[in-house]
Amino acid sequence: MDLFEYQGKQFFKSYDMPVSDGEVAFSVDEAVAAAQRLGTPVMVKAQVHTGGRGKAGGVKFAATVDDVRTHAGNILGLDINGHIVRRLWIEQASDISEEYYASFTLDRSAKKHLGMLSAEGGVEIETVAAENPDAISKVLVDPAEGLTAQAARAWVEGANLNPVATDQAVEILQKLYTAYTEGDADLVEINPLILTPDNRVHVLDAKVTLDANAVFRHPDYAQYDETQPRDEREEAAHAKGLQYVGLAGSVGVIANGAGLAMSTVDVVNQVGGRPANFLDIGGGANAQVMANALEVINNDPDVRAIFINIFGGITRGEEVANGIIGALEAVEIEAPIVLRLDGTNAAEGREILAPYLNQKLMMEPTMLDAARRAVALAAAAS
Ligand code: GDP
Ligand code: MG
Repeated sequence: MDLFEYQGKQFFKSYDMPVSDGEVAFSVDEAVAAAQRLGTPVMVKAQVHTGGRGKAGGVKFAATVDDVRTHAGNILGLDINGHIVRRLWIEQASDISEEYYASFTLDRSAKKHLGMLSAEGGVEIETVAAENPDAISKVLVDPAEGLTAQAARAWVEGANLNPVATDQAVEILQKLYTAYTEGDADLVEINPLILTPDNRVHVLDAKVTLDANAVFRHPDYAQYDETQPRDEREEAAHAKGLQYVGLAGSVGVIANGAGLAMSTVDVVNQVGGRPANFLDIGGGANAQVMANALEVINNDPDVRAIFINIFGGITRGEEVANGIIGALEAVEIEAPIVLRLDGTNAAEGREILAPYLNQKLMMEPTMLDAARRAVALAAAAS
């Protein structure tokens, strides 16, 4: 679950980290009213689930309420990396003398938490990593031990921050580690963490990704779930209990079992096509489940051909065949369907389907043949 910046800051604040006061606004008038309450100068900041807002014109300094009106008007509706700005965060502006970078995430190969800290903040950390990797101070934290004060200090000292920032940085980064672990986050990132001219270390941006599987431990995370960006196709599929992930291509994919569905996505790519989705209908393949799957795919306007890839295990071929016939009676499918049916009782299933084969329903003996045909049909219809 990705949080908006302002949610990330509230999350950090609940762990006693220093963030600026601010308010959320959904309109120019709300932004102006917020600025009047907070007192100018303020920052007007686009709230979208993507970084690089500053570069895209989504973060502006406003010296006066008139500036707030202008900037809010310009930023609302702005497209930032494909995300349309619908909400703003208005916060008291800070004076900056230095910008740092700090984050925690999991290092899977080390099986430890990885902290990164750099005196070169404000820019993308990938750029720093590529151009000046020595400027990033790292610490690996054993989750059983936690981040000790000693380790935190050594880490901070390795980053060459302004020495006046050291004590506060150590304290803030220990709190950041606590927020990251107790809050069940996958990523916490502060870029920039600033030093002000009056020598305060302060959080100016927040990127937080929470582990959606830990929501049961944090009932208050329900508020974040509501603001997650949604793929309409995924919503519809999940409502029908299907395991569906929307992709950007034109070949609709249906398979039984997650492993086979992933292989199907791979093989479509391998033969030069682009899958429109991942869809696992699970073990059974009865008419209702198949109809639901076809309906979800049929509602995706980008789909030009559908590849159904079934390997019967416990599910027998004749059940699959009857399921497909039932589904095609229940839903009007626009795109042509290519079926590969193999596994338990595949011959019986193919025999049942034989009379139904036509320009809209085709069968191929192997997964590769079926993928090639579906991709060719999609290409011809695009
Ligand atoms: P991002 O571009 O999406 O990472 O958004 P940030 O919140 O990091 O803001 C981008 C840049 O705007 C920061 O790196 C700062 O240089 C600047 N900025 C943000 N907040 C303030 C502020 O309160 N005062 C000043 N002077 N600059 C700010
Ligand atoms: Mg930033």
